[in-house]
Amino acid sequence: MPTINFGAGPAKMPEEVMRQAQREFIFYGNTGLSVIEMSHRSSHYENINQNAQDVLRRILKVPDNYKILFLQGGGTGLFAAVAMNLMGRTGSADYIVTGSWSAKAAKEAAKYGKVNLVLPKTSKYTGIPSQETWNLDPNASYVYYCSNETVHGVEFDYIPETNGVPLVADMSSNFLSRGFDVSKFGVIFAGAQKNVGPSGVTLVIVREDLLGEPMKICPIVMDFTIMAQDNSLHNTPPTFNVYFVGLVFQWIEGQGGLAEMEKRATYKSSAVYSVIDGSKGFYSCPVEKESRSKMNIPFRIKTEELEQLFLKEAQTKGMIQLKGHRSVGGIRASLYNAVTTEETQSLVQFMEEFMSAHQ
Ligand code: PMP
Repeated sequence: MPTINFGAGPAKMPEEVMRQAQREFIFYGNTGLSVIEMSHRSSHYENINQNAQDVLRRILKVPDNYKILFLQGGGTGLFAAVAMNLMGRTGSADYIVTGSWSAKAAKEAAKYGKVNLVLPKTSKYTGIPSQETWNLDPNASYVYYCSNETVHGVEFDYIPETNGVPLVADMSSNFLSRGFDVSKFGVIFAGAQKNVGPSGVTLVIVREDLLGEPMKICPIVMDFTIMAQDNSLHNTPPTFNVYFVGLVFQWIEGQGGLAEMEKRATYKSSAVYSVIDGSKGFYSCPVEKESRSKMNIPFRIKTEELEQLFLKEAQTKGMIQLKGHRSVGGIRASLYNAVTTEETQSLVQFMEEFMSAHQ
């Protein structure tokens, strides 16, 4: 029985990409070497590095005045890196906290300057208060938000208006699930391990005019300015990961690009939400409809006993990693780009059967 992986990350990768990586693993092209054996100073690796950037620039229409960086340290590393690279500009930053990941980012940034919370404090992350109520500081170095909260399933379906203050987005869990206007952002970052590749590389897209003012304490490996100058080759990059994300970018392009990814994400997520909404309370999703994530769908079942049973039965059908994050419990279905519509359909069918059996 095939396994269907609904994990939140590290998550399912496109099978075609994994097969290609497998075929090329021992001898890459005519180099006689594996990518993991190559010098990062070789022309072969330089091509891999450049190709990954070029394809990403094409599929996301990244304007020329933005640099693409491949860093390490994960999403969490970037929480600190963003602050150390940008916060020195005015000493403070605005944080829009809509779930546990933006909350963690705000806490980390507070080590480096003054953090202004744009929204009233809450521990119940079920939606995004309307923009008119936001407490934005015109003197902030940047406005930070997480475009998709992986644990709470809260996703922005719009780009926040910041009135000229640079906008920073953590897109770790919805990066490349749809197209968007990069020119509205100062910095975009994403850990790879959801939609774009194995954990170990973090993608950063940074507007050039924001380079040049890192804090003195900023470690070189986190310094956007130096990493941009050196084309992410200041020190040894995660070479295999950069190669792999390049393959995923090509896969996206070959599938029809971001418009196609968005179409699939809308179709798959609507199928799951419609079972939840049509279940007369058997299933429930706490997130307000306009802020529901297309990537991570958290839901509850009438009783905790039924939730346990649901996970157990799903497992016997090969559907794995459906357990909600330990901080919120329940179930979470992650429907990243590599999860097919057929796989999503299997989940939908199982949800319907489970409901009929236990209503
Ligand atoms: N931001 C978001 C939205 C995430 O989902 C995660 C991890 N799941 C992180 C940041 C942290 O990433 P990492 O584990 O790579 O530090």
